[in-house]
Amino acid sequence: MNQPSTPTGLSAWGETHHLRGPQLLADPLLNKGTAFTERERDMLGLRGLLPPRVFTLEEQLERTYNSFRGKPTNLEKYIYLVNLQNRNEILFYRLVIAHIEEMVPIIYTPTVGEACLHYGSIYRKPRGMFIGLHERGRVAEILRHWPQPDVRLIVVTDGERILGLGDLGALGMGIPVGKLSLYTACAGLHPSYTLPITLDVGTDNASLQAGPAYIGSKEKRARGADYDDFIEEFVLAVKEVFPRALLQWEDFGNTNAFRLLRSYRHRLPSFNDDIQGTAAVALAGVIAALRLTQSTLARQKILFLGAGEAGTGIADLFVAAAQAEGLGAAEARARCWFVDSKGLVVKDRGDHLAAHKLPYAHEHRPVATLAEAVNVLQPTALIGVSGTPATFTREIVEAMIALNPRPIIFALSNPTSKAECTAEQAYAWSGGRAIFASGSPFAPVELNGRTHVPGQGNNIYIFPGVGLGALASEAREVTDGMFLVAARTLAGLVGPEDLALGRVYPSLTKVREVSLQIAAAVAAAAHDAGLAGAPRPADPVADIRERMFEPVYRDYA
Ligand code: NAD
Repeated sequence: MNQPSTPTGLSAWGETHHLRGPQLLADPLLNKGTAFTERERDMLGLRGLLPPRVFTLEEQLERTYNSFRGKPTNLEKYIYLVNLQNRNEILFYRLVIAHIEEMVPIIYTPTVGEACLHYGSIYRKPRGMFIGLHERGRVAEILRHWPQPDVRLIVVTDGERILGLGDLGALGMGIPVGKLSLYTACAGLHPSYTLPITLDVGTDNASLQAGPAYIGSKEKRARGADYDDFIEEFVLAVKEVFPRALLQWEDFGNTNAFRLLRSYRHRLPSFNDDIQGTAAVALAGVIAALRLTQSTLARQKILFLGAGEAGTGIADLFVAAAQAEGLGAAEARARCWFVDSKGLVVKDRGDHLAAHKLPYAHEHRPVATLAEAVNVLQPTALIGVSGTPATFTREIVEAMIALNPRPIIFALSNPTSKAECTAEQAYAWSGGRAIFASGSPFAPVELNGRTHVPGQGNNIYIFPGVGLGALASEAREVTDGMFLVAARTLAGLVGPEDLALGRVYPSLTKVREVSLQIAAAVAAAAHDAGLAGAPRPADPVADIRERMFEPVYRDYA
């Protein structure tokens, strides 16, 4: 979505370029700060409003990066970046893209989690919209207050399950804001297309309810018809006010997440990144790992620790992929096993199993612990999505090594402090033979003269490309098939140089190219499925490349 005009008809640039003087400096999409030239300063009424010296974008970038590096804590780095984004978006995105590996852990997990915890006190300038339950009946009217008329991508949360941190209520706003920044940085979605939303439906977090500075409603979380009616009104309002928007459900508690996805996925283009994005990134890691183990999906047996949105989402996509390799659905489901907080998920366990676990509740005697489940089931892969640290113990990793020459061990829980084991532990306890990936980044590990580089199974490899592909093709729905295509495309982009280091994902520095390829593949899948509203382009990759926003200053002279 190049500027000033875009093939998909972005009008924001055309509408706002008449701004002058302080108003121009206050618009983060148009402001160039000290990069306004002498001629522009005269033309646009800026003389005297800026320091005298004119800087190039490259000089600004260097100065900004130095300031960023000078911040003593990650939270201060986060605050610095948010302020930069609110002041000068072009410079912000240039900085993020130029140092993507360093920036992603600040604007997203793990630092964004810490930022959410402090969102009330670091909140300076509104970014995104808060819509409260008490505003029922007025949601469409409220959405019309958003200054950009042509929103294409909404990330919405109700703050109930923020990363692995639980119910943060309205403080969860950092998540949609961060995710949408990643859409722009990683897939080139124009910032003016994006809208972060937090639905404030109360909180069950007692310390927030007790805290005087909490920024949201202190009522208990709405449930049942109150909640459902509010969400229904919200979705209808989105369709009315922003009819071209794709809706990404983000960090909802798992009882609502599955239901909302099921209810709305055919009513407007929407997906849940925690379920479907995670599934695709984890599956891509497994597919890439099979190139190291010289095996196939159909020969895997996966044991999951954690049977929530992430775990069962991964299993569902694994089943779809294994079916494509010729396995029957029941046979493919029988390759996926779950241990949750009550032990192995089996039929007749005696507790009421949630609907998303039922397909994986196999006939088996009760098994109480993960260690016992590993010994009994003999899995080829162990995937941690429990949000509980130190659960992949030495005993468990050693048991996996006894069963497999190269076991797949993914500790995906975020943030870093919640990972089921560390990279160092996985490599040390397995003598360097584990194929390890994590949700949050870990540094490379030196072991017996070899460097092991842990892959980061970060959803940012998937959702920006899926979203861009769905938008470019004007897909009416976002299907599981599109996530499968995305997973395969990502796995195909893992090079021999990555595998040689033990890394089952490409380097994060390639994320824009990854998003481009995924978007092209997803758009093609939308066309193949008859779900595309846009005409099929002759060259899908060139079409997507053409649409990607590059942060460069416009020339006003
Ligand atoms: P969820 O709340 O839906 O599910 C958590 C599951 O873990 C539940 O089934 C719970 O019973 C189980 N569990 C908790 N403690 C356990 C224990 N000690 N032993 C066994 N099972 C236990 O959460 P979710 O959305 O599925 O996310 C789970 C974790 O995965 C989070 O930490 C999240 O950050 C992480 N995650 C990572 C990625 C990624 O790396 N790409 C993406 C999404 C989620």
